[in-house]
Amino acid sequence: VDVGQASLAAVFSTVRDGVATTRPAVEEATGFSRAVVVERLATLEAFGLLGPGDLAASTGGRAARNLRFRAEAGLILLAVIDRSSLAVGLADLDGIIQMEHHEALDVSAGPEALLDRLTMLFVWLGEEQGGRNAVWAIGLAVSGAAAADLGGAGEAAIFASDPSDPWSAGDLACELAARFGAPVWARSSTQMMTMGELLAGTGVGIRDLLFVNLSRSVTAGVVSDGRLHRGAHGATGLIGHMPTGEESDVPCRCGIKGCLESLVGSDAVAREGARAAADGRSPYLAQVVKRGDPIVAADVGQGAQVGDAFCAEFMSRCGRLLGAGLAPLVNLLNPALVVLGGSVPQTGDVLLAAVRESIYRLSHPRATRELRILRSQMGGTAGLIGAGRMVADALFAAEFLPDWIALGTPRRLPSVQARIDASRAARRRPPSLPVSGQAAAS
Ligand SMILES: [Zn+2]
Repeated sequence: VDVGQASLAAVFSTVRDGVATTRPAVEEATGFSRAVVVERLATLEAFGLLGPGDLAASTGGRAARNLRFRAEAGLILLAVIDRSSLAVGLADLDGIIQMEHHEALDVSAGPEALLDRLTMLFVWLGEEQGGRNAVWAIGLAVSGAAAADLGGAGEAAIFASDPSDPWSAGDLACELAARFGAPVWARSSTQMMTMGELLAGTGVGIRDLLFVNLSRSVTAGVVSDGRLHRGAHGATGLIGHMPTGEESDVPCRCGIKGCLESLVGSDAVAREGARAAADGRSPYLAQVVKRGDPIVAADVGQGAQVGDAFCAEFMSRCGRLLGAGLAPLVNLLNPALVVLGGSVPQTGDVLLAAVRESIYRLSHPRATRELRILRSQMGGTAGLIGAGRMVADALFAAEFLPDWIALGTPRRLPSVQARIDASRAARRRPPSLPVSGQAAAS
C-alpha cells in the first residue's frame, strides 16, 4: 500500500470513528506532521468524504473547526432475497436505512426475472436520492446460497449451502456489480437478520444472542460478545441438518432422513398439513382444501390457534423438536436471548410455547438462568438493517479502505472490476444467470 494511501486512510478513519474531529486532534491521534494532516484533510474534503461540523469547544484562543464524516456522500443499496419475498432498501454510508420497500417474489419466474426486478428497484431507489452514480456499494442478504464477496475484505468465497440451489449469490452479485459499477457483498440472510435484531430489534443492549430463522430451511445466527460469528467459510448456523433421531419417511433435501429441517421447516409443515387434510385428521385443514387453496405452513399455525387438535399437536411437536435441537446450542453458547424469526414462528403462539418449554427443560439450569426466548417483531426489516451495517463496515474496513480511498470512491475500483471479470470467466454456465424455473420452485 502506498504511503500516501495509508496516511489518507488513517486520517479519514480517525475522523469517521470519532477518535479526533479537529485538525490538531488528528495530528495528535495519528502522529503525522501538520503539513501532512492539512494536505490529507483537504483531499478528503475535496472528495466530499469529510465536511465541516459544529464548532469545537474552545480550549483557549481560536476555536478549532470540527470535521465530520459525510455519510450522505454516497448510497448503499440493499436487498433481502427470500423464496417468496423481496425487500430492498437504501442506506447512507453509515449503513442507516433511509428508504425501504417490500414485495412478494415469485421465485418460479427464475433468476433472470429477479435480476431485472432488482435492477429496476435499485435504479428507482437510487434516483430518489441522487442518481445512479452515487451508488457506492450493494449488499445482498440471500437465503440458501450465501457468501460472495466482490471487492470485499479479502475473501472471495462463493459457496452454496445447498448444492441443488439454483440461486448462486455469486452470479447475482457479479451481474449487479457490473450493472451498477460498485462492489457487492452477499451474505447469508440469517446472519444479516441476526445483526438487524441486535442493532434495532429485541437484541438491543444484548451481547450474546442466538437467532433462529425458521422458514423453509432452519438456520441460526450467533452473536458472541457483541460480534457476529461467521465461521471459517461464513457458513455458521446450518442447524437445519442436525439429526433429531426421529423416524421419517421423507428424506431431507440433503438426502438424510430425520434432519431437523425436514421435520419442522415450512415445507414439512405444509406437507404434513396436506396429509392431515386428506385423511380426515384435521377438519380445519380439510376446510382450507375445500376452498381450493393449497395448504401452507401458515394454515397449520392458524389451525393451532383456533384449536384444531391435529394442528395444535403438530405445531407443538415442531416446537419440541426445535427446542431439543436448540438446547445443546444454549448450553454451548449461553446466550442471553434466543430470538425466533422466519415465517413459521409468525403463524402462532403454540410453537413458541413448546420451544420455550423444551429449551428450559433440556438445557443446563446455569445456561438458562435469565435466558429470554422471544419471537422477532421485525419482519423483513431485520435483514435490511443488518445488511446496511455489514456493507458500511466492509467499505471502511482497514483491509479495504486503502484500496479505494485515494480514488475518493469505491466505484469502478480496478480490483472490483478484476473480480467481476474473473468471476464471469469462472462461471460454469455462461453467458448469464441460469434459468431454471422448475429447479427454483422445487
Ligand atoms: Zn438434511
